[in-house]
Amino acid sequence: MKYKRILLKLSGEALMGDRQYGIDPKRLAEYAAEIKQIHEKGVQIAIVIGGGNIFRGVAGASNGMDRVQGDYMGMLATVINGMALQGALEDAGMQTRLQTALKIEAIAEPYIKRRAVRHLEKGRIVIFGAGTGNPYFTTDTAAVLRGVEVNADVILKGTRVDGIYTADPEKDASATKYDTLTFEDVLQKGLNVMDTTAFTLSQENELPIIVFDMNKKGNLVKVCEGELVGTTVNV
Ligand code: UDP
Repeated sequence: MKYKRILLKLSGEALMGDRQYGIDPKRLAEYAAEIKQIHEKGVQIAIVIGGGNIFRGVAGASNGMDRVQGDYMGMLATVINGMALQGALEDAGMQTRLQTALKIEAIAEPYIKRRAVRHLEKGRIVIFGAGTGNPYFTTDTAAVLRGVEVNADVILKGTRVDGIYTADPEKDASATKYDTLTFEDVLQKGLNVMDTTAFTLSQENELPIIVFDMNKKGNLVKVCEGELVGTTVNV
């Protein structure tokens, strides 16, 4: 395996499957099966999951809600998703721990870097919930932050598109995909990989990002083996 310790970022929306809202148990089971393949090959797996399938602070604020209040609601949404994913991974026979940036001790450990690393070393999958614990941030930023903290080799951003394109492939049919890019390329070309905070943190810490299609079976294992799947952003 090319990567020994990964930080997998899954969007909340990915959990909806074909639904308009919430969590599709079938999709959860599919993800658990994909994750199991790399777990069995000894990859240490940390996961950050978004909350967009349940609540986003910006959406709340655009409807007149206080932004900070909305952001905390969004962070709680990521905990709900984290619990759902934890259940699916355990059903598939993997050991897991959920650690949250906001303390909810009845259901999750508080985030403690050293404990997280220990869990990873013991082969437990660690899910980080509640984002960074701060409003005005995103779960992409949380993913890079935790990735840097636990010394992950790479951020794997599992999405529904199969990489970074010259333009949005869902809107522009002539868009073409990049295989590799440097952080500088992304900035110069004005490509949208992650929000600026997340992207800058990744660049400053020289932590590569791979954007790939998580919904295509076998992709996750291919990415971990080092196969050129999706788009890699590196120094
Ligand atoms: N959020 C936050 N701080 C964080 C991470 C998330 O306030 O560190 C809130 C924010 O409101 C965000 C929501 O949680 O909209 C859900 O996260 P995100 O939109 O990143 O989820 P995704 O788009 O990946 O599903």
